[in-house]
Amino acid sequence: MRLPGGRVTASQLAVLASCAEALGDGTMHLTSRANVQIRGVSDTLALAAWLADAGLLPSATHERVRNVVASPASGLAGGLVDVWSLVTALDDAICARPQLAELPGRFWFGLDDGRGDVGGAFDDRVDVCWRAVSRDTGALLLAGVDTGVRVPVTDAVGVLVDVAAAFVRCRGEAWQVRELDEAGRAELLANCGESRFPCVGRSESVIHRAECSESVIHLGAVRQDDGRHAVHAGLRFGTATAAQVRLLAEIADEAVVTPWRSVLLPDLDDADARAAERRLADAGVLVEPHDPAASITACIGSQGCAKALADVRADATNAMSELAAVGGAPGVAAHFAGCTRRCGRPPTSAVDVLADGDGYLVDGDRVAPGELADVLAQIRAKGRR
Ligand code: SF4
Repeated sequence: MRLPGGRVTASQLAVLASCAEALGDGTMHLTSRANVQIRGVSDTLALAAWLADAGLLPSATHERVRNVVASPASGLAGGLVDVWSLVTALDDAICARPQLAELPGRFWFGLDDGRGDVGGAFDDRVDVCWRAVSRDTGALLLAGVDTGVRVPVTDAVGVLVDVAAAFVRCRGEAWQVRELDEAGRAELLANCGESRFPCVGRSESVIHRAECSESVIHLGAVRQDDGRHAVHAGLRFGTATAAQVRLLAEIADEAVVTPWRSVLLPDLDDADARAAERRLADAGVLVEPHDPAASITACIGSQGCAKALADVRADATNAMSELAAVGGAPGVAAHFAGCTRRCGRPPTSAVDVLADGDGYLVDGDRVAPGELADVLAQIRAKGRR
């Protein structure tokens, strides 16, 4: 299910919990595109009917291409602008253009409020992104690279859909902008509005640094700019049980699924935020600000993918327990993958833990499953991650 910007209401979360329980494997999976998945579905037609009733399948033609990531804390804490009105306008504009139904389902749109959490930091997975550089202007990024074009906020949505339409025309076999050859990139650049908007030349600073605040907020209670609080809840491997999803729905009227496979619960007063932290922790949700478990990610592995060469989540869980036993924070950031597709790998310098059928390759070096914790502990001790 696509959730533009990751936004979902409490009543929709409750429906997703019921769907997961009645029609799926009992869990809800968050993706690095801030979308959600229900796996192991027994009756797809019944699931589609439930989701459509809840407003979670609004477009019969464009459902697969409504991939919009946005700064999750925008309008709550930090950021140069509030991008939420742009998210809605962009979703509407995508669905209004018949041609964009032909976009590959992997194409991403990004709206970054200036903190650099979705549109920069070397993330070449976001195909076209408007990233605020002031209250009324943004940089246009293609596959994480600044084009140098500066687009007024009032034109941002129009330029993003123009670039996407150009990608449909010129993409050839490419699924994403990062796969385009020179000619394809040149055609996209010609559709970036260079003739209409100022072009300042590419700026490394736009890509590399957060302009106004921490780029990724910590887990637990976060003070909003209006004095209220949001609770940032982490989920082990981005997976929530139906009971955990219902708990999220009970705590706030609306939630924001983040690209880090966590959930932001906004607009709580101080007492409610503290009570929410306790209830979430009791339910196994991560709310400690720098919980080491939040930095270990994994694809679904053999628990849900036929391509997997190992049960990577079981091996990652074992490695985490052994790492905890040898003590010490901070943890180490690592991504476990069941094959070379490395699904869900975060765009950070996480240690690469890749199943290859005979064990694992850790950053390319062979390691037996039973030695993973030792090797990660050594990496942690050297401070490499
Ligand atoms: S990385 Fe490979 S094993 Fe893991 S979910 Fe993706 S395709 Fe499946």
